[in-house]
Amino acid sequence: MTGEQKEDLILGDIAVKMRLVNETQVQECLNAQKTLREWKPLGVLLLEKGYLSEDQLQSLVDVQSRNIEAKAVQTRRIKEDNIFGRIAIKLGFATEAQVDECLGVQLTMQDDYFLRLGEIMLKRKYLTDEQVQKILDYQTGRLITCSKCGHKYNTILFNSGARFLCYRCDNELTVLA
Ligand SMILES: [Zn+2]
Repeated sequence: MTGEQKEDLILGDIAVKMRLVNETQVQECLNAQKTLREWKPLGVLLLEKGYLSEDQLQSLVDVQSRNIEAKAVQTRRIKEDNIFGRIAIKLGFATEAQVDECLGVQLTMQDDYFLRLGEIMLKRKYLTDEQVQKILDYQTGRLITCSKCGHKYNTILFNSGARFLCYRCDNELTVLA
């Protein structure tokens, strides 16, 4: 499936969920799309058929781009949570198996029900409130800022006192003890 086809399926899905069109209308346009010599996006076909107004199409496109932004936020959270998990193990609060189990649970969560790793581990009683707080403190405490360009680095995986160069400005940074 191409990226365009995927986007069309998502757009069709949102349009049906918002009750702007029904599944039969979407399917009809997707079928028509296959017979076209020049490819047209689903939104345009729905518009041409009169199933959608221009305003409706615009609001659909808006919803879709908000969904894409939300995905980017989600990716960043998952990265942060992976670091959270490593700290939990490093501090001896949880085992690798527990962290892996909870990261696996998180992957299956729909956007609406998304929980942070700390919350999942609390619910499963693998961590206490106090431990979650300690990990979060540790996580932010290990963040260092380049004094020249302001870029932030999470130094969780570095040893204390290690030196490295800022990849943006070549400024030498030292990991705090
Ligand atoms: Zn820098």
